[in-house]
Amino acid sequence: MKHSLIHYFFQIILLLMISLVVGKCSESPTEPERLCSLQIEIMSGNNQKASSYEYLAEPLVFSVKNLTSMPVSDKEIIISVIAGSGMAENTRVTTNNEGIAEVRWKTGTGDNQILKAVVEDEEGLTADVYAIANSDIIFETKWTTGLTFYRNFTEPTEHDGKILETNNFLIFSNGGSDNNKVIFAKIAEEHLFQVMNKFELASSEELGIHKLNSETKIKIYAHTSTNQPGIWRGARNYGILFPSYGSYGWIEMGLKHEMMHMVELLLTGPENFVGASVPSWYTEGIAEHMSNYTAAYPRQINSVSQLNSWISNHNNPLTILNFEDIGNESANEYYNMFGVVVKFILDEKGLGKTFAELKEMYRDIEISGNFNQSFENKLGISVDSLTENIYTMLRSYFSTQ
Ligand SMILES: [Zn+2]
Repeated sequence: MKHSLIHYFFQIILLLMISLVVGKCSESPTEPERLCSLQIEIMSGNNQKASSYEYLAEPLVFSVKNLTSMPVSDKEIIISVIAGSGMAENTRVTTNNEGIAEVRWKTGTGDNQILKAVVEDEEGLTADVYAIANSDIIFETKWTTGLTFYRNFTEPTEHDGKILETNNFLIFSNGGSDNNKVIFAKIAEEHLFQVMNKFELASSEELGIHKLNSETKIKIYAHTSTNQPGIWRGARNYGILFPSYGSYGWIEMGLKHEMMHMVELLLTGPENFVGASVPSWYTEGIAEHMSNYTAAYPRQINSVSQLNSWISNHNNPLTILNFEDIGNESANEYYNMFGVVVKFILDEKGLGKTFAELKEMYRDIEISGNFNQSFENKLGISVDSLTENIYTMLRSYFSTQ
């Protein structure tokens, strides 16, 4: 069903327009935002771990205060588990004299365990906070407004005005629910954390993201449309466009593919990435490798005979420099092969290169201004030589597996 779309999925759109001055947005809502007169925070119990369908060892403890930070007693907190099929012991708890209430949480299955706690003030305005479990990330959420998502760098894209800000992301949507935005952000934070670990980045500040500066964060526009392809747009105002619902499994993998594009852009520096002629075979290959073959799942080419049959009716993958070079062939098949080439580059039984070396390669692009040059500088093999010998190398790689 998704087959006709997948041709266009995970394509990079990278326009050479970084010097364009982006004007101030005039389309964002300008009316003053009414603030909920309550605030809720997690005092303890966040970020615990437990096996599926077991209670976390400690309860989640919430504190409710008014805007002058005085505790609010006898206030009802509404509890719901929004991801991970777990269960809270109570769906409503009430704060004591110190403005504190607690609840026990039994986690479920899957990578994203998220519990939501909401309070409502007398005017019906709400404040919320989200706890997570079985994760190593820090997940802080804040609703904000007045920011703009630019499509093609200069076109402000209409959105619902309720933007979710987390540690490293801004989640826009054309009408996705609060829960959907929160789940999306959690997935994105998780992926970024994993990619950063691979590249041994201790902090997202190394990518130029600063927690207290919203404009440095990665923007994701979560479309409430299943027809919107997954796409990232680079350079200034970097962002990812992605469907906001459907199969979470598919979204998780697809978003990870796009996240890899975003990380390489930020590792290199957006202003250096553009113009460095990063070829499709590499950038799509690393994105497919990191996401365990999203566009081209499952990986098709694992043996010499599969390789031979691929060679008989395709071009050398390393000659695909731009998406358009794929022509009328199946993009899936090429993406698959790109992923295989990158796997070979990184595999100990292949070229045995490391993520640390790839990181140095990205950093080197700032100096060389050219992908092929930096590839040779930091990986010790020229792209020309790799192109010439790739089939021989892959044959020998597959035959030793
Ligand atoms: Zn891609």
